[in-house]
Amino acid sequence: MAKITMITPLVEMDGDEMTRVIWEMIKEKLLLPYIDLKTKYYDLGLKKREQTNDEITIQAANAIKKYGVGVKCATITPNADRVKEYDLKTMWKSPNGTIRAILDGTVFREPVIVNNITPFVKTWKKPIIIARHAYGDVYSAVEIQANEAGTGTLSFKGKSQDESIVVKEFEGPGVLQAMHNTDKSISSFARSCFNYALDVEMDLWFATKDTISKTYDHRFKDIFLDIYENEYKELFEKENIEFFYTLIDDVVARIIRGEGGVLWACKNYDGDVMSDMVANAFGSLAMMTSVLVSPDGYYEYEAAHGTVQRHYYRHLKGEKTSTNSVATIFAWTGALRKRGQLDKIDELIKFTDILDKICLETIEEGTMTKDLALLCESKDVSVVNTEEFLDAIGNKLKEVM
Ligand code: NAP
Ligand code: MG
Repeated sequence: MAKITMITPLVEMDGDEMTRVIWEMIKEKLLLPYIDLKTKYYDLGLKKREQTNDEITIQAANAIKKYGVGVKCATITPNADRVKEYDLKTMWKSPNGTIRAILDGTVFREPVIVNNITPFVKTWKKPIIIARHAYGDVYSAVEIQANEAGTGTLSFKGKSQDESIVVKEFEGPGVLQAMHNTDKSISSFARSCFNYALDVEMDLWFATKDTISKTYDHRFKDIFLDIYENEYKELFEKENIEFFYTLIDDVVARIIRGEGGVLWACKNYDGDVMSDMVANAFGSLAMMTSVLVSPDGYYEYEAAHGTVQRHYYRHLKGEKTSTNSVATIFAWTGALRKRGQLDKIDELIKFTDILDKICLETIEEGTMTKDLALLCESKDVSVVNTEEFLDAIGNKLKEVM
C-alpha cells in the first residue's frame, strides 16, 4: 500500500521522560509505516530548552501560528528539584503556559471512553468536554490582609470614569480581594467555545453566578449571549446543536444527572475544579486528551497527563513499565485529523478514525495497561507493558490497513 501523503506539515513538539519514550514508539509502530509524515520538529525536552534559553518553545509556538496545527508531547515544568537534576540556569517557565500566552487559546479536555470501564457516575454514557477560561479571576487577583479596623475600597480611574466603592467597613482584622477580567479575553474565550462546539457538533453549556454577581459574572453572560446571537445562532441551528446558558449550580446538577455528550464552558476557577472532577469520575488521567484552540483558528493537541516520571525512572533501570499511551495516541490522531480536514486529505482522516477505533477495541477486548486493569470490572483482562500495548494496536492496524 502506498503511504498517505500530507500537504502541510504538522508542528511536532517532542517532550520529556516516559512520554518521550512513548512518542518515539507511536511514530515508529503506528504512524510511519502508513503515513509519509511531514512535520516541523521542535524538541521541547528540558535539555534543549536549557540549551536554547527556552527560545525553542517560542519558536514552536510561532510555528503553530504559521502552519496551524501542532501536536505536543508532555514536558517537564521545572521546579527546584528539576533545577538540580538538570543543572538548569534558571527555573524555565511552563512550556504550556508560554505556548498558551502566544496563541491566546482555550483548552478543551475530553475523556476517551471504553465500554468495559464504567464511569463513577453511572448515568454518564458520552464524553463531557470541559473548556476552561484560562485568564484572570482569582488566579490574578490582588489581596490584602487587614490587620485592624479600617475601610476597604475598590476603585477605578480612567479618562472619563472615576469610581470608588466601599467594599467593607472593617471593625477589626479581616481579608479582602479584588479580581478582574477583560471583555477581550472573555470574547475570545466565547468564540473559541462556539467554534469548538461547531467542530465537534456538540451542545454548548455555559454557566456563571450572574444572579449574585450582577456586574462581574453578568458581563460574562452578556458577552456570551451577544456573540451567540450575532455570530453563531444561525450556524448552531444549521448544525442542529444548542447553546444553553444557566446558573453554575444548575449546570452541576444537570451534569451529574445527565448522560454527558456536552461541551461545558467554565469560568477559570470552575474549570480548574470541574476538570479534575470529570477526569477522575471518568476513570484515568491517562485517558484524558486535551486541545488548545486559539481564537484565530490554531490547534495544539496533547495528552492531559504529565511525563509519568515514576515510570521513567523504572524504565531507566531497565524495568518494564505499563504506561498507557492512549491519550498521546489520541493527541496524534487529533492533530492529523485536523490537518486532514484543513487540507482535505480523506485518507488521512480515515486513517485517524481507524487508529482511534483500534485503540478502543484493543482495550475493550481485554488488552490493557495496569492503570486501566485496576478500573476494569471484568477480571478477564491481560495486563501488558508499554511496548506490548502499542504492539497489540500495531498488529491490529496491520490487519486493517
Ligand atoms: P503525571 O506525569 O501525570 O503522572 C502522575 C501519576 O499518574 C503517574 O505517576 C502515574 O501513576 C499516573 N499516570 C499518569 N499518566 C499515566 C499514563 N499515561 N499511564 C499510566 N499511568 C499514568 O504527573 P506528575 O508525576 O505530577 O508530573 C511529572 C512531570 O510532568 C512533572 O515534571 C510535571 O511538570 C509534568 N507535567 C507536564 C504536563 C504537560 O506537559 N502537559 C502536565 C502535567 C505535568 P502511578 O505512578 O501510580 O502508576
Ligand atoms: Mg485543578
